[in-house]
Amino acid sequence: MPNTHYFTPGPAALYPTYAQHLQEALHLQIGSISHRSRFFSEIYEQTYRALQQLLGFDDEVAVLFVGSATEVWERSIQNGVDSRSAHLVNGAFSEKFYQFAKLLQKDAIAHTVAEGKGFVAEEVLQTFQEAHKIKPIDFLAFTHNETATGVSTPSETIERIADAFPDAIRVVDMVSSAPYPHIDFRKVESAFFSVQKAFGMPAGLGVWLVNHKFLKKSEALAQKGAITGTYHRLSELWKHFEQFQTPATPPVLPIYLLGKIAEDLNQIGIEQVRKLTDQKAQLLYEAIGKSKSLEIAVAEPAHRSATVVVANTQKEASALIEQIKNDLNMEIGAGYGKAKNTQIRIANFPAVDFSATQQLADYLAQC
Ligand SMILES: *Cc1c(COP(=O)(O)O)cnc(C)c1O
Repeated sequence: MPNTHYFTPGPAALYPTYAQHLQEALHLQIGSISHRSRFFSEIYEQTYRALQQLLGFDDEVAVLFVGSATEVWERSIQNGVDSRSAHLVNGAFSEKFYQFAKLLQKDAIAHTVAEGKGFVAEEVLQTFQEAHKIKPIDFLAFTHNETATGVSTPSETIERIADAFPDAIRVVDMVSSAPYPHIDFRKVESAFFSVQKAFGMPAGLGVWLVNHKFLKKSEALAQKGAITGTYHRLSELWKHFEQFQTPATPPVLPIYLLGKIAEDLNQIGIEQVRKLTDQKAQLLYEAIGKSKSLEIAVAEPAHRSATVVVANTQKEASALIEQIKNDLNMEIGAGYGKAKNTQIRIANFPAVDFSATQQLADYLAQC
């Protein structure tokens, strides 16, 4: 159905200027240019600078392009874990990050809380510090926004835990929230996202932010004989990044488009992007609070995600999703995994229109 408003948490609504930038990219024949050309390096650098302004990191941080965020789970573990990784797990996505470490035969531990719950820094620190005494933790895996449950971990919580492990490689999955969270890149070594969530683009690009400390760790691991990957091992990606190049043929088109959308977001300003996100989230949460048949899934207000709003449904979620499609021409997300028919998930990414959100909220309040 044309002109459907997508409120799905990935793939998601395309950013409003996407089509226009795509037209321009075709005009520039970006699909055919050599990735070894000067033109490509300029595109890479432009995207780098736009993301730098948007996300607020300095020149010590590299931006590396890989296939997906899922790939970054694997690459970051391969390149960052020597002794032991520690994971904050509260849903399907953070759980997968943890399972990847085990699949790669790393010694991995988790502090796990129930789905729908968030983390208390003191409790996480207790688990990790006990474990650390027995065998050092040298890698910390945070998921800023657990997309399966709509639980967010505030930056302050991430920083408190990260600060207790200054020597570790501290990594933040910000896939379904970037650019919303304020991540202090002096306190973590890495963060990553993919473009089909909050950047409003089609899937196909993973974006991996990494600092020098992570690079050095990767090099030390390789020297010890650890497998850190082949073409996408950190040292290889970094070496090419220094020339704004990539080890293999990159997806030039989405790298270009990401830069353009980041520039558009910079035009609005990150503070305004955050403010609008908060305002739309508030509309949705208030509406769900008013509804007779819906309930906010995350009980603790401080842990509620601003970018993926989740509600428990009394009726079959699929019926409500169908009804919203028919009545409003809007597509909202089903619950994740086993919550498929008992929850709905509503993406509140920058591409999601304010008045459409208002309309959806008014509708939900009557449900
Ligand atoms: C979607 C998602 C991923 C995986 O992203 P892909 O682009 O599918 O690899 C990882 N982490 C979180 C939190 C996600 O929402």
